[in-house]
Parts: sequence; C-alpha cells; structure tokens
Amino acid sequence: MKKILSVILTFVVSVSAAFAFASCQDVNDEIKKVKNLIIIIGDGMGLEHIKAAEIYEGEDYGFTNWHQTTVNTDSYLGENYYTLTDSAAGGTAIATGTLTVNGYVGVNHKGEELSTIMDVAKQKGKATAVLTTDTIYGATPASFSAHALNRGNSGAIAVSQLTSSNVDLLCGTIDGITTAGYIKECAAENGYVYCDSPDQAWSTVGEEKAYWQLDLAGVNATVELCEATSYALEFVEKDEDGFVMMIEQAHVDKYSHGNDFIGAVCSVISLKNTVQTVMDWIGDRDDTAVLITADHETGGLAVSDSEEDYPRSFEKSNGQLGSYFFSTGDHTRSYVGLFVYGAKPNFSAFEFYASNSYIKNTETYKLMVKLI
Ligand SMILES: [Zn+2]
Repeated sequence: MKKILSVILTFVVSVSAAFAFASCQDVNDEIKKVKNLIIIIGDGMGLEHIKAAEIYEGEDYGFTNWHQTTVNTDSYLGENYYTLTDSAAGGTAIATGTLTVNGYVGVNHKGEELSTIMDVAKQKGKATAVLTTDTIYGATPASFSAHALNRGNSGAIAVSQLTSSNVDLLCGTIDGITTAGYIKECAAENGYVYCDSPDQAWSTVGEEKAYWQLDLAGVNATVELCEATSYALEFVEKDEDGFVMMIEQAHVDKYSHGNDFIGAVCSVISLKNTVQTVMDWIGDRDDTAVLITADHETGGLAVSDSEEDYPRSFEKSNGQLGSYFFSTGDHTRSYVGLFVYGAKPNFSAFEFYASNSYIKNTETYKLMVKLI
C-alpha cells in the first residue's frame, strides 16, 4: 500500500512539475531577446494626457493599441510603506528595478549604487544613449546614468555622467551648467565630442561618444525631440551588438505642474512624433522592442471630447471645443500606461502592487533585462 501511495505521489509530483515547467516556458517564450531596445518616457504623462492629445488632434495614436498594461508609480517610504513619487525615485525604479526614496537617483534607500539598464546593455556590448528635453543631469536621465543621494547636485551629477556612466551618447537641453568650462574639459578628457549646435551634433553620428547640448526644451524648442532621435538612431545603429536608448519628453510634467493644458498636450504630441520617428526607423525589422511609459502622472488631469464635462474648455484642431480639469499642480498616484511593441510579455505573471490591477514600476526594468 505504501509503495502504491508513493508511486501515486511521484506521479502527481512529476505531473505538477511538468505543468509548472510548461507554464514557465510559456511565459518565457513570450519574451524573445531583441537586439535593440528603445524606452520612451513621458515625464508626468498619465493616460488622460495621452487621451487629451488624441482628442486635440482628432486621431487615435497607434501606440495606444500596442500590447499594454497599467503601472503603479509609488516610491519607497519604509519597509512595505510607499508614497507619492518624484521623478528621481520614479526614474530609478524604471532604470534599476529598485524602489527608492524621493530625491535619490540610481541608489537604493540605503544609498547604495544600483546597476542600471544601461550598465546591463554595456555588459552585452551594446551602444547606449540617453536623450531628454530636460537638462541631461535632470532626475530622469540621471537615473539612467548617475548615482546620487540628491537629485539637486546638478554639477556633480553632470560630471559623473561623463566620468563614470555607461552611456555613449548624452543629449539634453543646453544651460549654464552644461556649457561651463569644467564640463567641456571633462567631456574632452573622457572621450566625448562636445557639441552645442545641431549641425555640430549631427556631424558626430560616426563617433564613439558624444555630448549633445541643444535647445530641446518645451513648445519653443528650436530642435525637435524627433529630429534629435533620428540622428541618435544613426549614432547607435552602427554597433553590431545593438543598442539601448532612453528618450524622455520631460515637458508633459513641467507644463502640467503649471496646469498649462496646451503646453502639456503639445509635449505629448512631441512624444508621439518621436514614437513615429522610431517606428519609421524600425520599418519591417523584427529585432527591436519599444516601450512607452511614464514615471508618474502630474496634475490629476481629466479630459473630455465634449465641452460640457469639465470647467475649462479648449479648442480642438477641428475648431470644436473639448473640456479639461487639473485637480492639482503636483504629481499624483494615478497609474500610468506601459505600451510594448516588438514583444508580448505575459503581464499576469508580473509582480503587482496591492491588487491585481497595476504592475509595480520596478517590473518595467525586469522586462527590459529579459528583452536584452
Ligand atoms: Zn514633476
């Protein structure tokens, strides 16, 4: 009898092991390795921001039909305690897969340096690039290329990006820090070709390392993010091992802090145009994945196609009126989107925050590591 029981038990264990193995296999099969990975971040871009731009332009954006899920964006407050994130902790969660304290970039809550997706890419021999409409030492780009206990240590972060990041191309909005003599010297000493005009920048696409400081900021930018992206793609595509590129449209957040609806909408349109540039480059290649997400929502925006629904109205491109409402000038805990092209990860197998509704923001990093 004992023997029969043990045979039955062995059978049950091996069958369930086979099932467990099969389900693991299925999940992994859905994440095939890609040569190139592009992550596009709309700082402060909630789902209503995307809807607002779609309503404003009167068109559905293709990426809102990609494989997708929703993401919680809380940051670390203590063991099992979470709070409203800033862009430093929000960016660090995406770039490193670790929840950290607001104000920290590229370090955990104890202040220990974390490995970023750019470090992982370099270990695999890939080219790396970070582009932003913010200054390059801003919280989101810094999360992908620096380690600091204070996001406000601008000069020190800018120096460390040149001396110890694994990023070949650093592109951001020009300002007093990035034009300072010590930054130009630091760039030269570390093999970066320093460029502060578009023509100069575009001529360096054949170089190993470059530092592009351009006027990319906001609705009056003289260099569009999509234009910088198209040259950045030329810069990284020469690496036969592929590349990882992070592109941030920082101004959805900046305009939403001031409850500037049109500014925020124009920034989402800039992000959409950048997605189009990336998709044109991809064409029919099947070796590239694209992720679009946000570090958090800003403004508590609500928007409607009808002028009746909210207190403030705006004119759509067809001349009719829609309406909107910002409930705050700060960040919110609203979930954000994660849209994926070039892979179909099984999101139900991901780690969730609190309920089964939103994946943790740290899962985006884990997905990127699996992809490359
Ligand atoms: Zn913000």
